[in-house]
Amino acid sequence: MNEADSQRMSSFLKENGLQSVKNATDASLLIINTCGVRQAAEDRTYSLVKKYKDKNKDIKIVIMGCLAKRKDVKEKIGQKVDLWLETTKMQDILSFLNKDKQINYNDYLDIKPEYSSNFTAFVPIGNGCNNFCTYCVVPYARGREIYRKAQDIILEVEQLARKGFKEITLIAQNVNSYRDPEKDINFAQLLKMADNVEGNFWLRFFTSHPKDVSDELIQTMASCQKLCAHLHLPVQAGDDEILRQMNRKYTSGH
Ligand code: SF4
Repeated sequence: MNEADSQRMSSFLKENGLQSVKNATDASLLIINTCGVRQAAEDRTYSLVKKYKDKNKDIKIVIMGCLAKRKDVKEKIGQKVDLWLETTKMQDILSFLNKDKQINYNDYLDIKPEYSSNFTAFVPIGNGCNNFCTYCVVPYARGREIYRKAQDIILEVEQLARKGFKEITLIAQNVNSYRDPEKDINFAQLLKMADNVEGNFWLRFFTSHPKDVSDELIQTMASCQKLCAHLHLPVQAGDDEILRQMNRKYTSGH
């Protein structure tokens, strides 16, 4: 998800006149798209901020991603960070850079990404999570679920297929709770629509919450032609009491 978000941020800045550099030490603006899922990822952010601010005190450092809303992180490195940016509000970087909004989008997921490969691409279908598993920061760090319109997702898949991409992966924190914001389209139906896109490619998706894997989804998977025979299903535990404590809302029997 962070990789897909970074690809959107990169193209958005280029559309607005910024250039990328090969070496981070040559940059005047450094955006660190952070992950807070493990302490090691968090520590890496601290060391990157220190490293680049120590090398160039004029560099502007932006923290985006899951650590951008964390109070304790702000207390730790706040003095060295110039902007804390929520991923869903990535367009706000333009006012920080004193740039007029030349190209504006209602939703950051509408930004056309700059894919880092011409073989494989992530297509975000949504962002955020409503599930509040007891051990997870995502609903707080990324916010509640928002989903893209199916027509926009399919358009992106069609463009990728035409360009010859061979592996297209639909992504969200919880793909199978997908709902089109305007039409009555669920994830199984979206998957079928993506599978029907013309072209020679493999289709994948993740991540799935076991409680939301419906019979309809399983039947749709069985009927798809391009979809890889692969289901990433993080069951987390096989003990019902542990699952209850994790607030996962399914049992080992399910
Ligand atoms: Fe976190 Fe996944 Fe649970 Fe959402 S479903 S709270 S992202 S572990």
